[in-house]
Amino acid sequence: MNAYVYGYGPAGKERLIVVDLGVTFPDMDSSPGVDLIMADVAWLEENKHRIDAIFITHAHEDHIGALPHLWPRLRKPVYARRFTARIGALKLEEAGIGTEDLHVVEPRPQVIEAGPFKVQFVPVSHSIPESSALVIDTPAGRIVHTGDFKLDGSPIVGEPFDPVMWHEIAGEGDGVKLLVCDSTNVFSPQPGRSEATLAGPLTQLIAEQEGMVVATTFASNVARLKTLAEAGRAAGRSICLLGRAMKRMVSVAEETAVLTGFPGHIPAEDAADVPRHNLMLIVTGSQGERRAASAQLSRGKYLGIEMKDGDTFLFSSKVIPGNERGVIRIMNAFSEKGVEVIDDRGGLYHVSGHANRPDLEAVHDLLKPQMLIPMHGEHRHMREHSKIATSKGIASLVATNGMMIDITGQAPKVAEYIEAGRTYLDGSVLIGALDGVVRDRIRMALNGHVLITVIIDEDDVPLGDAWVELMGLPEVGRSGTPIADQIEDELAEFLERAPDKIISNDDKMDEALRRIARQVTMEEIGKKPEVTVVVSRLMAD
Ligand SMILES: [Zn+2]
Repeated sequence: MNAYVYGYGPAGKERLIVVDLGVTFPDMDSSPGVDLIMADVAWLEENKHRIDAIFITHAHEDHIGALPHLWPRLRKPVYARRFTARIGALKLEEAGIGTEDLHVVEPRPQVIEAGPFKVQFVPVSHSIPESSALVIDTPAGRIVHTGDFKLDGSPIVGEPFDPVMWHEIAGEGDGVKLLVCDSTNVFSPQPGRSEATLAGPLTQLIAEQEGMVVATTFASNVARLKTLAEAGRAAGRSICLLGRAMKRMVSVAEETAVLTGFPGHIPAEDAADVPRHNLMLIVTGSQGERRAASAQLSRGKYLGIEMKDGDTFLFSSKVIPGNERGVIRIMNAFSEKGVEVIDDRGGLYHVSGHANRPDLEAVHDLLKPQMLIPMHGEHRHMREHSKIATSKGIASLVATNGMMIDITGQAPKVAEYIEAGRTYLDGSVLIGALDGVVRDRIRMALNGHVLITVIIDEDDVPLGDAWVELMGLPEVGRSGTPIADQIEDELAEFLERAPDKIISNDDKMDEALRRIARQVTMEEIGKKPEVTVVVSRLMAD
């Protein structure tokens, strides 16, 4: 959920620009039921009058996904290159937001002036079209914000790595004061491989298959989609794209002219009529997402197509840490159908979109920054990247969420910590990660829920018995009698004896009834459930 902020000016009055507004994805353990997770922008919102612009480096969800959710709270001009802007516009339109503040930028030499900042977009190769680094010039020096990048001389779609341009960027003025640099693959010791190396192995693999071939990759990896489709065509197969995200990416890439020569493809309705050995599907769901096409196919018939013994399913992708369970579930489901599952274990069918350690070092050496702040990666990645920089005499610091860093001196130093938590998109509303909503949801999921209802009359006397309903709990426990009945009996006994000062007090009633329900369930099943106590009081006229 990338969201970087740069500031220039007197302390506390700096003019600000925002780089990227991304999301991350929830999981069942820590954020069940949540739809998306993004940075808490409360501080930016408070300082909205100081923000001059928002820049989006590329259209991956972790860089642009929060735009429709957070832009309405900031309402500042947004700058992005054509493809990224188009994806952003679709997101805003879907959220019913106008796109008049979204501006298409051409790459360097175009300069966008935003307050004291002069910003240029520099094409970099990555795993989505038109990724960009930003060169951010301020009166105090030049910052290079790499965005996500790799060094690829032949990326299939988009611009190759251009060492001449980077050399120029390093040489202008006083050089690069600060490099803020992708750290994702810092632990990969070999130089990264080009997207172009995949065509041979993929073409051979697909040509060797007898049955239907289904391949999955990230929907936004348009270059890979093209390589896969071409490999399929070379094997005499009709190509069919399945999954909304994938069709959208291909059409936006074609519409913005970043993708040309994509092989013709057939609609899903026609795919079922094509003989299996003449058919190749390219589908969404490389991360095991439950609703994506790959998961649907693993469960059975999808849009009239069913995978069978003799077919092949190819993951031209890697599993993002945390998604292993979903992917393995799909692999096993295909395996049970007799489908051959091929993944990237051998390193032949996927290359990463991020720079490996030797490539990162090449960029350090090319740009010769005075300081380096690692970004994009887990803390261990950024720490390693920082160590590499320090060992080369580049001053460095690991920035964690909310850390404001002063880069005016010779080395980065912490200036301030800003409250910067997480915001959840829950259904259609934004909530704070610490608001207690998800905490209560997790407690109910883990411990179950008991509802107690009591009616108290005008004279503070219970009207009839309390009644109890259970949710997410077994009906009977150790004793063999229904738990709800036992709680009701205990409550009846309590209410009979309880003094007026408890009966007339909502808080005391709540506490006492809750304790009884928890005691009974603890004895019966060894769990303390969440309890809701509803006390309805009849009012005298
Ligand atoms: Zn990316």
